[in-house]
Amino acid sequence: MKDPRTTPFGAAEEADLRALALRVREHILGMATNGGCFIGASLSCADILAHLYSRVLRVSPATVRDPGRDYFFLSKGHDVPALYGTLVELGFLEARRLANHLETHDSIYWHPNRAVPGIEFHSGSLGHLLSVSIGVALDIKLRGGDNRVFVIVGDGELNEGSIWEGCLVAQAHKLDNLVLIVDRNEFQANVATEDLIPLEPIDAKFRAFGWSAMTVDGHNFAALDRAYQKLPVEPGHPTAIIARTVRGKGLPSIERRADRWFVDFTAAEIEALKRELHGEASAELTSETLMVR
Ligand SMILES: [Mg+2]
Repeated sequence: MKDPRTTPFGAAEEADLRALALRVREHILGMATNGGCFIGASLSCADILAHLYSRVLRVSPATVRDPGRDYFFLSKGHDVPALYGTLVELGFLEARRLANHLETHDSIYWHPNRAVPGIEFHSGSLGHLLSVSIGVALDIKLRGGDNRVFVIVGDGELNEGSIWEGCLVAQAHKLDNLVLIVDRNEFQANVATEDLIPLEPIDAKFRAFGWSAMTVDGHNFAALDRAYQKLPVEPGHPTAIIARTVRGKGLPSIERRADRWFVDFTAAEIEALKRELHGEASAELTSETLMVR
């Protein structure tokens, strides 16, 4: 069997990833009812996660506790439905458990819990898992290991001071085994990031902290593949990948809608959205949306 991490990226790989990401989005939709979920941010990072687990991470259901595995941390924990969907599709997590979303007898909840197979650490309090990732990456360096550490943060999460403290520490220890991916979907909660605390230019900010930084289209699998092929971009320096994404990607009636960040749809709306996901009629949505003022 060919190793996808060393297989050139071509039309067949593109088609496989498109199909995988579509199934991940179907799982996300399945969690957007009966209590709901943070659907916008989950849809924006679905392609990043599908690609990362399929083409980059050296981890499998059989090696989730192997000390030589690559580590992945989801710091923007509210988009965990995308991670659950990916873990199910790649065999880490039983599909039936997604039906337990928000049930008190299971750990399948709005934020990651390391009791769930394939999830390395809890998250939800924003700005924390970069520091956890740094600790793991430093431990690997001290042990002389060659495994890598990947962490996804939200763009709004860059407002947390702990992110930039972590950037200083990561560069101080020359952690070129550390890759931070920013899901740059241009929203935080129901506000555009640039209307609240402007972030641009993000890549220049990371470079000022001594990191390598590159910006890619977070929905373009070939572009993502080229970015990861360059790792480590600069020996002795951590890498930041700013992945430009669309919040709600895949569902036009949700895309770039500030008010559709957290949703709890009716069963009929979910069925309509599934048709929309497959390019059929657009969904008629009437459920109220959660607003933060
Ligand atoms: Mg965001």
